[in-house]
Amino acid sequence: MQPRLVFSPQYKTPISDFGFDKPFALDRGEMVLKQLELDLGAAVPYLEPKPIGDEEILLVHTSEYLKTLQIPKTWIDLFEFKESEYFPDRAKRPLPDILNDFKLKSGGTLLAAQLSLELGLAANLGAGYHHAFPDQGRGYCAINDIAIAIKFLQKQGCIKKAMIVDLDFHQGDGTAKVFQNDPSVFTFSVHSEEGWPEIKQKSDLDIPIKQSEKDLYLEKTSAGLTKALSKFAPDMVIYVAGSDPYEKDVLPGTSFFRLPLSVMKERDELVIDTFADQGIPLSSVFAGGYGPDVWEVHYLSIRRLLERSGLSFGQTFTRR
Ligand SMILES: [Zn+2]
Repeated sequence: MQPRLVFSPQYKTPISDFGFDKPFALDRGEMVLKQLELDLGAAVPYLEPKPIGDEEILLVHTSEYLKTLQIPKTWIDLFEFKESEYFPDRAKRPLPDILNDFKLKSGGTLLAAQLSLELGLAANLGAGYHHAFPDQGRGYCAINDIAIAIKFLQKQGCIKKAMIVDLDFHQGDGTAKVFQNDPSVFTFSVHSEEGWPEIKQKSDLDIPIKQSEKDLYLEKTSAGLTKALSKFAPDMVIYVAGSDPYEKDVLPGTSFFRLPLSVMKERDELVIDTFADQGIPLSSVFAGGYGPDVWEVHYLSIRRLLERSGLSFGQTFTRR
C-alpha cells in the first residue's frame, strides 16, 4: 500500500525542552498509529515530511511577524503562558527554535495535500494551526499551515480552487482572515458560538452552534456541507478535523458541546465520504484536541480514511 499518512516521531514537542515548567501534551499521532497497528497486525506506513522554509511562510505571513518569532516573548504570549513559568536556564533548546517544529508539521500538511492530489485521500497526523493570522500568532498557532499549503499549491499551478472544511470546536478565524477577499478559496467553519475566540471572523460560510443546539450538530454540519458544495466546486479540500467538540476533551473552554464518540465518528465519516464519493481530493489535519482520550476521535477518522482508500480492517474499535 502506498503511504498516504504523514507523520514524524519528531512531531512530539516536549515543551519542557524549551524551558517551560509545564507537562507536555500527548502525541495523538503516535497513539493513532499504535491502535491502527493493533487492528491491522502490521504497522501502517507513513511518510516523514520536510520542514517548510521562510519563503513558504511568507506566502501567508508578514515578514515583520516572522521576525518576531525570534523573540521568546512572542511564543510565551502565543501559548498563553506566564513569564513566571518560563525558565530559560533550564531549557535544552532556545525558545525560538520551536519554530522549526512548526515548520516540520506544516511541511506535513503540505505533503498530505500533495498526496491527496495524487491518491485522493491523505492525512497529516498533526498540525492544523487555524488561529494564526498573517501578522499574529495565537491560540497555540504560530504559522497557518493550512493557508500555506493552499497558497503553495496554487503558486505551483497544482490547484486553482480550494475549500477548507473546519469542524474544530473553535472558529477557523485565522484561515478565514487570510482568505477573506480571495474568491479562489472557500472557507467553511462549524464552531461553538459561545466558545473562544470572542470576536469571530467572516468565513465564506459560518455555522455557529449554540450550546442549546448541540444536538443539531450533525444535522447543521451536513446541511452546511451541502450548501458549501452547491456554491463552490473545489479542486482540493483540507479538512480541519479538530477533536475538541468531543465529550472527553479536557479544555474547560470546550464544555459547550461535549459530543459523544458516535457523533464525532459520524461527523468524520460524513466529511470523508462526501468528498470521496465526489472524487474531490481531501487531506485532513488534527487541529484542536486536549487530554488523554481525544486520540480516539482521530483514530476513527484516520481509520475511515484508510478504509475509503481500500484498506480493510478485520475488527472493530477495541480499546487498548
Ligand atoms: Zn480548537
